[in-house]
Amino acid sequence: MDCVDRIFELFSGRGDAEYFGEPVSQKEHALQVAHFAARDGASEALIVAALLHDIGHLLAGTEDMAEKSIDGRHEDAGFAWLKNHFGPEVTEPVRLHVNAKRYLCRADPSYLGTLSPASLLSLQLQGGALDESAAHSFEHQPHAKDAVRLRRWDDQGKIQGLDVPGLDYYRAMIEQQAKHRSSRSV
Ligand code: FE
Repeated sequence: MDCVDRIFELFSGRGDAEYFGEPVSQKEHALQVAHFAARDGASEALIVAALLHDIGHLLAGTEDMAEKSIDGRHEDAGFAWLKNHFGPEVTEPVRLHVNAKRYLCRADPSYLGTLSPASLLSLQLQGGALDESAAHSFEHQPHAKDAVRLRRWDDQGKIQGLDVPGLDYYRAMIEQQAKHRSSRSV
């Protein structure tokens, strides 16, 4: 199956699951995060990253993960699947979006106060704020800035009932990014 069709299938299968104690579903969350990225003038690659940043949660327990023996943390699971279809402009912000939260906890004193209770809880499970040397190496990763931007949209995308464009709005954009990757890898 074409990767874009698979993405749509994943959202229709598990997209209605709740987003970890937040008042939005997985799909509503993804669409809000992509919408905020577009509103802030992000590149199409980063908008697609925003839309797909939590795809690891949608893949959990599916054949995609079993076949490729992907397990563990959702950002790594998402990255492992996405890298077969998209370039680093899409996949790296996804891979780094949890560490971007841990980075912001260290780098921005006001950040912690913006996190929802569910996000504070997951922060503990994710290892808390990065220490100084981990924060330093995070900053020097090529797509760290995009990961931090994605993270801030991620934290905002929890608004009940917000009216935003649906998944179809992004189809051509996702196809374009997948094509971009395959044209570069031949
Ligand atoms: Fe998220």
